Amino acid sequence: MKNNFIEEIILTHEEIADICKKFGEEITEEYQDKRPILVGLLKGSVPFMSELMKYIKCDMEIDFIQASSYSGVKSTGAVMVLKDMITPVKDRHILLVEDIVDTGLTLREVMNLFQDRGAASIEIITLLNKPDGRTVNTVVPKYIGKTIPNKFVVGFGLDYNELYRNLDYVGVLKEAVYKK
Ligand code: 5GP
Repeated sequence: MKNNFIEEIILTHEEIADICKKFGEEITEEYQDKRPILVGLLKGSVPFMSELMKYIKCDMEIDFIQASSYSGVKSTGAVMVLKDMITPVKDRHILLVEDIVDTGLTLREVMNLFQDRGAASIEIITLLNKPDGRTVNTVVPKYIGKTIPNKFVVGFGLDYNELYRNLDYVGVLKEAVYKK
């Protein structure tokens, strides 16, 4: 059921579950003997990662990292690590789990960090992709749930001022909510 602050539903809970099932099967096949680490970018990836991992049927680990743009220098893409991972990354296969990729700046910096730490491989899994917003062409997600136009969406981990992460679907937020 759509809430009154939502303009349009982008992904229902059932569609999200189908995406996770499909990704889970592909990852199970591809990472069978690699014991990958799913690394969720806090906080938005939490619901997506929880749903996705249920469908991965090979040995795997999870960890989390929280990165944030330095305020005032957003366009440089420099990020600050607010919470680091615990698991050592060297020679490990990393699957970065994101809610949405927009400019790609956050992921570019996080990928550089993992490369510097000697990861064996790094791939991106994202529930949503906004290619119109992309400014970094080196960030190419391997697994994309749905490609969407340049609209502001909330739900299933995605927030507006920390609200709406708990919706079990993704929808476009009504402009009236953030223009008042
Ligand atoms: P990027 O570095 O790719 O520009 O930033 C991606 C991050 O920006 C996402 O993890 C998310 O936190 C935020 N973001 C980008 N687009 C949206 C959107 O449409 N809705 C919400 N709620 N967050 C977004």
